[in-house]
Amino acid sequence: MRRLEALGREAAALAAGALPPTAAEAEVARQLQICNACRYCEGFCAVFPAMTRRLAFAKADVHYLANLCHNCGACLHACQYASPHEFAVDLPPAMAALRGQTYADYAWPPSWGAAYRRNGLVLALAAAVGLALFLLLAALLNGSLFHAPLAGNFYAVFPHNLMVVLFGATFAFAVVALAAGGRRFWREMDAGPAGGAAIAEGTRTALTLKYLDGGHGEGCNERDDAFTLWRRRFHHFTFYGFLLCFAATCVATLYHYVLGWPAPYPLASWPVLLGTVGGLGLLIGPAGLFWLHLRRHPAHVLAAQKPMDRGFIALLFLTSASGLALLVWRDGTAMGLLLALHLGVVLALLATLPYGKFAHAVYRVAALLKYAIEKRQPNPVQQGAE
Ligand code: SF4
Ligand code: SF4
Repeated sequence: MRRLEALGREAAALAAGALPPTAAEAEVARQLQICNACRYCEGFCAVFPAMTRRLAFAKADVHYLANLCHNCGACLHACQYASPHEFAVDLPPAMAALRGQTYADYAWPPSWGAAYRRNGLVLALAAAVGLALFLLLAALLNGSLFHAPLAGNFYAVFPHNLMVVLFGATFAFAVVALAAGGRRFWREMDAGPAGGAAIAEGTRTALTLKYLDGGHGEGCNERDDAFTLWRRRFHHFTFYGFLLCFAATCVATLYHYVLGWPAPYPLASWPVLLGTVGGLGLLIGPAGLFWLHLRRHPAHVLAAQKPMDRGFIALLFLTSASGLALLVWRDGTAMGLLLALHLGVVLALLATLPYGKFAHAVYRVAALLKYAIEKRQPNPVQQGAE
């Protein structure tokens, strides 16, 4: 009886003005209905306990659950109903397709969501424009890409204020666009108020990437059904490398504006040390993720999303490689050329952050926080396990 009442509430909510489900939403909902009867995978990740709190799967539910999925592959390899079974319960690719749709749906400005559908082209164009802009500027401002050694003084090639305006505006736009998308997603999920314990748990599961352990601690499924923790480790190299590089930029900004110490900074200074360690992480992580991506089980990844995944990984790698090359040869006669290449790639990366793979970090953290909140609330269907 309670089950029927809950189903009735879900149906009424769907009828109350919601748009009809897209093909990706309907497919995830269909598969989750089967999973909800089976529940074999309950211990694998947060998706299955969250699923048991629902009897039907409206748009907001499937959007939330798709972004809660870390695409570890465990449920696909464990499932007796996966293709070629007629039930075709292939959750990782179905969730991936829906995640891609949500990135476009929540994009800000909304019309720019189309950038996700042709992401390989968008990334290539952004890189081409960024590189052309800085190579041209270097040639126009200095007459040549080569020069006498400048002792690492970047501002002798590109004026400080020019870089502040270009990168400050691009970064601010990226933050606003990502925040607007995240806010819309959060409001749609209707997570309710977050207590301290839920925030702590959501933060911990995001920072440790707990759900890339496959539920048994041995990691994601590989192409050959073996397990690997390297996907989680390479994500950590990438994420913490990115954070350290960002910290290096923040410290350098403080040095410049608060302490009055303009660049270049010595090798033993905090900006250079943080940037070097972060840069190495941002080399190792993306290189490893690219290698794993080439070897992944074909049922884990969607061919249509490969340009987005690999393009973002390539931009991260080039950002780090060009930054480290600049550090090594900053006293040489090609510093202007190396600086133009590095800044061109960084500008392309920043400009495309809200319209590429980086968006998954925003929506996944929001989904993890929602899960940490709702698991502390009474189970609305009074069944299932946490
Ligand atoms: S993925 Fe398959 S085995 Fe796992 S809960 Fe769903 S139907 Fe059951
Ligand atoms: S692929 Fe992994 S994270 Fe996604 S639903 Fe399956 S078990 Fe959970």
